[in-house]
Amino acid sequence: MKKIMEIKDLHASINNKEILKGIDLDLYEGKVHAIMGPNGAGKSTLSKTIVGHPDVEVTQGEILYKGKNIIDMEPEERALEGIFMAFQHPVEIPGVNNAYFLRTALNAKRKHLGLPPLNAAEFLRLLKAKLKELGMKEEMIHRSLNEGFSGGEKKLNEILQMEILEPDFVILDEIDSGLDIDALKRVSDAVNKMRDGKRTFMIITHYRKILDYIEPDFVHILKDGKVLKTGGIELVDALEREGYKVFGES
Ligand code: ADP
Ligand code: MG
Repeated sequence: MKKIMEIKDLHASINNKEILKGIDLDLYEGKVHAIMGPNGAGKSTLSKTIVGHPDVEVTQGEILYKGKNIIDMEPEERALEGIFMAFQHPVEIPGVNNAYFLRTALNAKRKHLGLPPLNAAEFLRLLKAKLKELGMKEEMIHRSLNEGFSGGEKKLNEILQMEILEPDFVILDEIDSGLDIDALKRVSDAVNKMRDGKRTFMIITHYRKILDYIEPDFVHILKDGKVLKTGGIELVDALEREGYKVFGES
């Protein structure tokens, strides 16, 4: 097994408050890592730290991605290097057309890879096929990014971005919250289809359901800014039975 990311003694703060208090975590190429943990554990902060969100200040430690420390890398550059995150709360961006945004992002990535850009017609063909698979309404791509989308539609739109951009390292932060049962199934199918033995997934969730569809290779329990436990799906069983106190906390 090859490590695609090594997080070492990572400390990070938001507004001068330390949230991550020494995260050590190895993520393996081609594997699915589920991250669970109580509210406020630092799961979203960890994902924001990986993508380089400006709210987060790293005070100690490192994140090696493909062998390189990315702490000082710009978020855009991390994205071009294949890191992608579906946000827990996707932002609405009025005035930015969804299809235009996606094509711009894809063509930036293609340029980075030395590939020619897709023209509008080529891109639309690609997009329409993906929309159909995800069960999304076609008009959604002609609207402003996430504007007026329902909670579930926003989540599906994040998955659409993932499908179009074909990242190497995918973080899904509570992608399952707010999804109805059919949408959850479509999202899970989309993830499973993209599981190709190379692409790595970090799936943050509170619920077992999505992990029944997308079977994780590893489960990590985060609590109070640290990794409390690493194991397999049996951790989720224990959690469901007894709650987080099973891991030695009240
Ligand atoms: P999780 O995703 O595990 O529920 P978060 O990473 O969102 O947890 O939050 C961890 C802690 O950091 C919480 O106590 C939260 O209140 C705090 N926090 C997160 N974002 C901010 C922010 N922008 N300003 C102040 N505190 C924040
Ligand atoms: Mg969160």
